[in-house]
Amino acid sequence: MTSKSAAAAARATVYGYPRQGPDRELKKAVEGYWKRRVGADALRDTARDLRRANWRRLAEAGVDEVPTGDFSYYDHVLDTSVMVGAIPDRHRTAVETDTLDGYFAMARGTQDVAPLEMTKWFDTNYHYLVPELGPDTVFTADSGKQVAELTEALALGLTARPVLVGPVTYLLLAKPAPGVDADFEPLALLERLLPVYAEVLADLRAAGAQWVQLDEPALVQDRTPAELDAAARAYGALGSLTDRPKVLVASYFDRLGEALPVLAKAPVEGLGLDFTGPAAANLDGLAAVGGLPGKRLVAGVVDGRNIWINDYEKSLATLGTLLGLAGTVDVAPSCSLLHVPLDATAERDIDPQIARWLAFAHQKTAETVTLARGLSGGTGAIAAELAANRADLASRAGSALTHDPAVRARTSTVTEADGRRSQPYGERAPAQRARLRLPLLPTTTIGSFPQTTEVRTARADLRAGRVDTEGYEERIKAEIREVIAFQEKAGIDVLVHGEAERNDMVQYFAEQLTGYLATQHGWVQSYGTRYVRPPVLAGDISRPKPMTVRWTAYAQSLTDRPVKGMLTGPVTMLAWSFVRDDQPLAQTARQVALALRDEVDDLEAAGTSVIQVDEPALRETLPLRAADRAAYLDWATESFRLTTAGVRPDTQIHTHMCYAEFGDILQAIDDLDADVISLEAARSHMRVADELAAAGYPREVGPGVYDIHSPRVPSAEEAAALLRKGLAAIAPERLWVNPDCGLKTRGWTETRQSLENLVEAARTVRTQV
Ligand code: GLN
Ligand code: ZN
Repeated sequence: MTSKSAAAAARATVYGYPRQGPDRELKKAVEGYWKRRVGADALRDTARDLRRANWRRLAEAGVDEVPTGDFSYYDHVLDTSVMVGAIPDRHRTAVETDTLDGYFAMARGTQDVAPLEMTKWFDTNYHYLVPELGPDTVFTADSGKQVAELTEALALGLTARPVLVGPVTYLLLAKPAPGVDADFEPLALLERLLPVYAEVLADLRAAGAQWVQLDEPALVQDRTPAELDAAARAYGALGSLTDRPKVLVASYFDRLGEALPVLAKAPVEGLGLDFTGPAAANLDGLAAVGGLPGKRLVAGVVDGRNIWINDYEKSLATLGTLLGLAGTVDVAPSCSLLHVPLDATAERDIDPQIARWLAFAHQKTAETVTLARGLSGGTGAIAAELAANRADLASRAGSALTHDPAVRARTSTVTEADGRRSQPYGERAPAQRARLRLPLLPTTTIGSFPQTTEVRTARADLRAGRVDTEGYEERIKAEIREVIAFQEKAGIDVLVHGEAERNDMVQYFAEQLTGYLATQHGWVQSYGTRYVRPPVLAGDISRPKPMTVRWTAYAQSLTDRPVKGMLTGPVTMLAWSFVRDDQPLAQTARQVALALRDEVDDLEAAGTSVIQVDEPALRETLPLRAADRAAYLDWATESFRLTTAGVRPDTQIHTHMCYAEFGDILQAIDDLDADVISLEAARSHMRVADELAAAGYPREVGPGVYDIHSPRVPSAEEAAALLRKGLAAIAPERLWVNPDCGLKTRGWTETRQSLENLVEAARTVRTQV
């Protein structure tokens, strides 16, 4: 591509890049700063070097326009709050005293003030800090960070496009500040916010921005007419400004739907649309509005959230169709590459043949550039890349990893009956009662006990070869003995083995299932300086041998009380992994379910009378658009039932979920057909119990009475009061007593006291029903 034809040619761009650096340098610098081991200047230098390295790499890879402002010390939504001056009153002094420390105070809190609340960024595993707004919020523009980063990139001689969270999404992500009426709608502040954006846009133009990108992912969700109208007003107003760069409104994670005509009509110069997964419906949407004549379309054809190579032919076909539908068509990943790891070539432990199927941020960048070249110059311009891509896709499709005949044969013969218990709940419950002989209001825990330094050290020692498997297992057994002894002494009714052997509730199983791969460097930001390394569900899933049975059996050998078997459910196994994209999720879930079903059956055969299958992710993978939810919940609940339905009627199946907001999946919870469900409830004052009761949920429920998210020890009176609230909604025969979630992040001292109080509360309330 010569520089002359480049002006008319398709450009390659990205919306954002992983911030951490190849060796997670940012994490180290930020955490070092918190510990006062790294000075503010050193932190700033590290950050600047990382930004520059990213831009240089993007430019060298052939990206025509690099993003700026997507970098963050902690979170880009928090950065937006700073940009618009939405600093909560309780953090003002800190921010005024020291910008950086104030910033981190908002993110993490201090001894004296609570941080902003954190929540999931749409349906990703990234978490942002929720803006707190109210009728008294006064916005003020602070374009400093945006201007500085743009200036840095321009100084490198690059074409750069600042990326900002758009005003509509920003307000839709916000919540009423503490003390503000819960009915307050932050979107009511739009007219107050727009002048601040206008000021920032003017500053960016003055600093040399040709284009600016405003991200509006909230517009891919179902939106009310009033919200769509707000979007029309926002972009009508911003578009009419004279002193501004050209505006690209970017959307991602799903289709724009009814927001597409709104944005297509707005007086802005460009639109970014996602064309992957369910967002492929944008293609029809675009045709329906008559395209974007004269405008710039940025086409997200490279999946920015998953780690598989692109299908070039398919993408080029999409891009070819789009050519007729806009003034110019540029190519991009579907969303910021923040959600994928940095570099697949760093994965030296993965079979090189298989590693060729992987595309992390660097590889996705190269794919984007290749597709832009293919779009401009025709397939001849990328003949070699196309051939290699075809070969890699063929190797993936024909591989024994992705196509295991035994797994395929088994999944294809699954019937509806396989997902149905042999008796309905009403008949199972008395059988379980007779077998388990539990008191009223039985006490239990969610599974994990504190992960002590000893356990973590033992695991590190095993990995480093400092201890052999036998020595490691002895360590785990000692831990199990301690956990069982404590629970017996405390008087808990249904015991657990404590999950000491698990590094993580998904990774532990992924490591033992055939079809999963582990990465060495596949870190993605979960929030702030927290990174996770999701396993890769790459192939057909099978279970070569039992995964948990010996630990549960060992624990059971130490006590006469029932020990609960503990597994991670199929939906969560998918949600917290990178999942193969070459077959429907339903199919993958079914394979995982069958593998887990074998484990459930083996646990039962080993004498386990209570088995818990955790599904904390059931709600978080709920599709963004309501229209897609029924199909999702259908396969999600089916896979849970397939996992659990093979057991005898008198074996009790528990499930667990970690959140208090689940009004929209009540029916799905019932469809799981679990005998007992435990949920988070302590902070929401047992509201879930009321909701389940109101929905007529017929089974047993354990609404948490101990908030495990804080080291605070609840008193017995407090737990008893919560239990009484639970009893107001749920009959005593159906109410369980348990904490909100697992105890692995807690210390032993507070855990001991809290569980003793929990048992005392159950005993007290039992005498009163
Ligand atoms: N059984 C798991 C534990 O106790 C459940 C964790 C979760 O729900 N996230 O740790
Ligand atoms: Zn939980």
